Amino acid sequence: MEPNELREWEQKCIQEEPPQCTAACPIHLDARLFVRQVGEGDWGGALKTLAKTMPFPRILGRICDHPCEHACLRGEAGEPIAIGALERLCVETVQQRVVPSMLPRKRLAIAVVGSGLGSLTVAWDLLRKGYDLTLFEPGSRLGGSLWSLPENILPPEVLSAELELLTELGATVELFAKVGRPNTVVTLSESFAAVYIGLDTQGVNLNLLDLDDQGAVQVDPLTMATSRTGVFAGGRADDTKSPIAAVLAGRRAATSIDRFVTNVSMESGREKEGPYATLLYTSLAGVAPLPRIAAANPASGYNAEEALKEAGRCIQCECLECVKVCSYLEKFKGYPRKYAREIYNNERMVPGGVHRANLLVNSCSNCGLCATVCPNDFHMGELCHDARLSMVARAKMPPAAHEFALLDLEFSSSDKFALARHEPGLTASRYLFFPSCQLAGSAPGQVSEAYGFLRQQLSGGVGLMLNCCGAPGFWAGRDDLFYAAIRTLRTEWHALGEPVMIVACSSCLAIFREQLPEIPLVSLWEVLEQTGLPNTAAEAGRLAVVDPCSSRLDPAVQKSVRRLLERLGAAIEELPLHGDKPECCGFGGLMANANPALAREVVARRLAASDSDYLAYCAMCRDHFTAAGKRTTHLIDLIFPVETREDPAGRPATGWSLRHENRARLKEALLKELWGEATVTVAEYERRRVEIPPDVLALMEARRILVADVQRVIEYGERTGNRLRSEENGLCRAYFRPHRVTFWVDYRQQGEGFIVANAYCHRMEIVRSSHEHV
Ligand code: SF4
Ligand code: SF4
Ligand code: SF4
Repeated sequence: MEPNELREWEQKCIQEEPPQCTAACPIHLDARLFVRQVGEGDWGGALKTLAKTMPFPRILGRICDHPCEHACLRGEAGEPIAIGALERLCVETVQQRVVPSMLPRKRLAIAVVGSGLGSLTVAWDLLRKGYDLTLFEPGSRLGGSLWSLPENILPPEVLSAELELLTELGATVELFAKVGRPNTVVTLSESFAAVYIGLDTQGVNLNLLDLDDQGAVQVDPLTMATSRTGVFAGGRADDTKSPIAAVLAGRRAATSIDRFVTNVSMESGREKEGPYATLLYTSLAGVAPLPRIAAANPASGYNAEEALKEAGRCIQCECLECVKVCSYLEKFKGYPRKYAREIYNNERMVPGGVHRANLLVNSCSNCGLCATVCPNDFHMGELCHDARLSMVARAKMPPAAHEFALLDLEFSSSDKFALARHEPGLTASRYLFFPSCQLAGSAPGQVSEAYGFLRQQLSGGVGLMLNCCGAPGFWAGRDDLFYAAIRTLRTEWHALGEPVMIVACSSCLAIFREQLPEIPLVSLWEVLEQTGLPNTAAEAGRLAVVDPCSSRLDPAVQKSVRRLLERLGAAIEELPLHGDKPECCGFGGLMANANPALAREVVARRLAASDSDYLAYCAMCRDHFTAAGKRTTHLIDLIFPVETREDPAGRPATGWSLRHENRARLKEALLKELWGEATVTVAEYERRRVEIPPDVLALMEARRILVADVQRVIEYGERTGNRLRSEENGLCRAYFRPHRVTFWVDYRQQGEGFIVANAYCHRMEIVRSSHEHV
């Protein structure tokens, strides 16, 4: 990923944008954090949050005119949060002293004239930045019009104590300063690196500064600079009318002075100073309107209990729409913008976090739900897919992540399963049935029945294509394998006379629509709606429909499935996430290969959506849910009930070994029954008779080891003598490495066959020295 691509991804995710309250606050106080801390009763933390941004928090916390409240999103669901009142209670009740953090001394002297709120802010900010600061006040005390505020709003002792902070921070204060002389501005600007003049200060002589049409000193509203270089000014209005506006003006001037004396551009990068419109999106779905908590005694404001309740109304605005619906995004405890940076750093090989980033990239199911719910269409699947392509190209993809699935693709496109034929006895095909490798592996009998029914109902010839759509290659970032699969399918479709393809699997359909737009496509379910259902179809009861994630952009198929179910008498229940928002079952994107624990969580989350029996029309959804104990019927089990008439949900989940076996047997059976060909070729290793106890079979399933893998190891060990025999228990241990995975099997011979005691695999190569004996 190039830096500009990272920026493009980052800009799409607006989770790090500030909430409305913070964006509207002229000084961008982290009001969301402050309110949360109040709600948690963490008053000390809340005061620290105020002090991080506010000058003189015990003054401003009492008198701010809180424009943040006009923007607060709670206002769209009830009334805005009373942020001002909460700040007031915080600074009134928390007595702990908060000393602001200071940067090292810079030994550059700045003069500030006047001591209204704007001037005080300039002084506060520049002292914290490490400047030597002298405050010239012509009057007898600091504070200007702040002293005119009612005592119950700003008690004099609070004002005095806060102002004393300035000298504690190192300011030199000159009261009764002579600032009315004609050359005051010149003298100050010659003696100090920069000067700020509070225009609300009585008696300052400003005659050397340019004036505007109204006779006021000309001040650049962005930088607060006057016509004289190094002289800045502000604070024209009465501070008490909008105290926070006066603070903003002071803060702008302090920033400009800091930039001016350090020779940094005073104009650039200041777009987000002051209030601005945030891009943050926060959904109010499910947020009940709530009115503001009323203080029992309005004159004194909230008590602690009332404040806690008021803070509890805060929505804690954030986006996270994608994280709310995706276990994968939730699991890594972040959000897409953060993940994009992690993936970028991983590609740049920034030390640390490589394993986490690999897991992050390979765990996404590529289902696209995030893009559907995101206000900016952020598609985490696309980001992860690009990263997978890059990892493969740089030879950084760990083999463990996808090896099994790629071998499955290899098997399905091999002679063991692949087939492309016209209907028996015909030389042309108007249609071509593509049942998908996963449905053929899970329900071969039903696939065979469906093909028979289509041949019976449709005229013009229904050819058959058994193969894989190449999805595992795409998901693994192996474009070479994926496009090779697509090319084969295209070539065979041409050779069969370009028939209409009838596709049973939504994933295949989605891939074909994108990669093979020249092929006319229709789903099996839409065809069955037209032909009518076989008389043997079973009746259905109450079923919650689980749309596969790959049907997200295919409402026609989703509707067709529901109409078929209605014909079967089903009472349909819709799950909360359906239509354009279905979740993945953990198979997509090869999530279950790279991160089996997460895939189990994904299944558990989907199963928790309803207590009803499920109806699936994706073979992997059905098998994943059934394996997790959920009664799930595949639509094909209802329409073509092969031994499942009594209980369509009763078919057990199909394990990995059986899937291969089923595909191979389906092809053999169809070749024999329909085309009269017996072409069974049995490899030498397949002749090894093995007996595998159920507990070992379960382990093999979890470790994705096929029975055929075990047979190959035993055949290799026995044929070459490369095996170890334990004196203790008589077990033989042998290994074999057909590709990049080494399989190990512990077994013992019994008669003509073998009993398997254990099987495991790893991705290391065993290098044998020439002296090694077995
Ligand atoms: S009350 Fe004032 S300082 Fe506090 S968040 Fe609102 S505008 Fe900012
Ligand atoms: S609801 Fe809370 S986080 Fe959202 S804008 Fe209002 S105060 Fe800020
Ligand atoms: S939905 Fe997700 S990706 Fe989109 S802006 Fe929100 S947090 Fe970011």
